[in-house]
Amino acid sequence: MASNMTSSSLAVLVASCAFAAELQRFESVEPHMGTLVRITLYAANADEAKTAFKAAFRRIADLDAILSDYRPGSELNRLCRAPHGSPVKISDDLFRVLAASQRLAEESDGAFDVTQGPVIRLWRQARRDHVLPDPESLNEARARSGFKKLHLDDASRTATLSQSSMQLDLGGIAKGYAADEALAVLDRLGIANALVAMSGDLAFSHAPPGRRGWKISLEEFGRVLELADAAVSTSGDREQFLELNGEKYSHIIDPSTGTALTNGIAVSVIARRGIVADSLATALCVLGVERGMALLDLNGNAAALLRRPSSGSPVESSRFKDLPSIH
Ligand code: ADP
Ligand code: MG
Repeated sequence: MASNMTSSSLAVLVASCAFAAELQRFESVEPHMGTLVRITLYAANADEAKTAFKAAFRRIADLDAILSDYRPGSELNRLCRAPHGSPVKISDDLFRVLAASQRLAEESDGAFDVTQGPVIRLWRQARRDHVLPDPESLNEARARSGFKKLHLDDASRTATLSQSSMQLDLGGIAKGYAADEALAVLDRLGIANALVAMSGDLAFSHAPPGRRGWKISLEEFGRVLELADAAVSTSGDREQFLELNGEKYSHIIDPSTGTALTNGIAVSVIARRGIVADSLATALCVLGVERGMALLDLNGNAAALLRRPSSGSPVESSRFKDLPSIH
């Protein structure tokens, strides 16, 4: 009996290895959402891979047309231009992203806030002009911002903006959601081992065949993780910033002051979904180490690594210590 069981499980093992060996690795890169999106996947042949890439990139492009604050005709911007005070029916995708944003806004005490578009735009202009926003414009922009001015109704799938000239900005969450959705499309096409990388936001399904996980390099921290079925997002001031008068202003703003962050913090978040990892990483940058750790405790399975420039060694959340790491 025992030897029978051993031989049959051996047969299953051999079969799965043979199956795995048939899969080949494919990679494709396309520009979307203001960045280069790289998809790596394992498929039986080039035709299957090509079909999969096409469908996944199409889903990302469709989401950009919904969620972008750069495109005047996006669903997001149409919502912003609708008369204030009246409910607007929105797509399931936009509703899902706004609902997740509002949940995190509540949990983070407004540190993550997608209604800060007017303030974010002033700081974007400041990076272009190399001049700080003037206080009067900032005050005016802040008066048009605040997550309590956005109302969602679950039953009717509507959004209501309670004030005129509001501007929503999903730059801190849309890429994570798009990566999740690209993976979902691949999964429906039978592609179970894939990784979607949108600059600092990664989401991936099962490990490459025969491996324990995807090797995820956290360059900011000099660490490499080996993970499957998860998402990793990194936020900080490394790529987009304004340097002026000895300060380095991040592209993330603190909604409680209307000022771009100068705390120089770097954060990586590991979560089951990209939508969570992306938005949490942005929120943790605003909250800093102590308040950030408290927020993480609320978020079931997320783990994080944070570093302030002043204190050399990074701070690991309790769940981070349990992750399989290479070094
Ligand atoms: P990246 O775009 O490099 O992945 P993040 O995910 O941290 O970085 O998102 C930063 C973007 O999020 C900003 O460019 C802006 O569009 C938006 N943003 C800035 N500050 C906040 C904030 N406090 N809450 C929500 N979104 C923000
Ligand atoms: Mg983010």
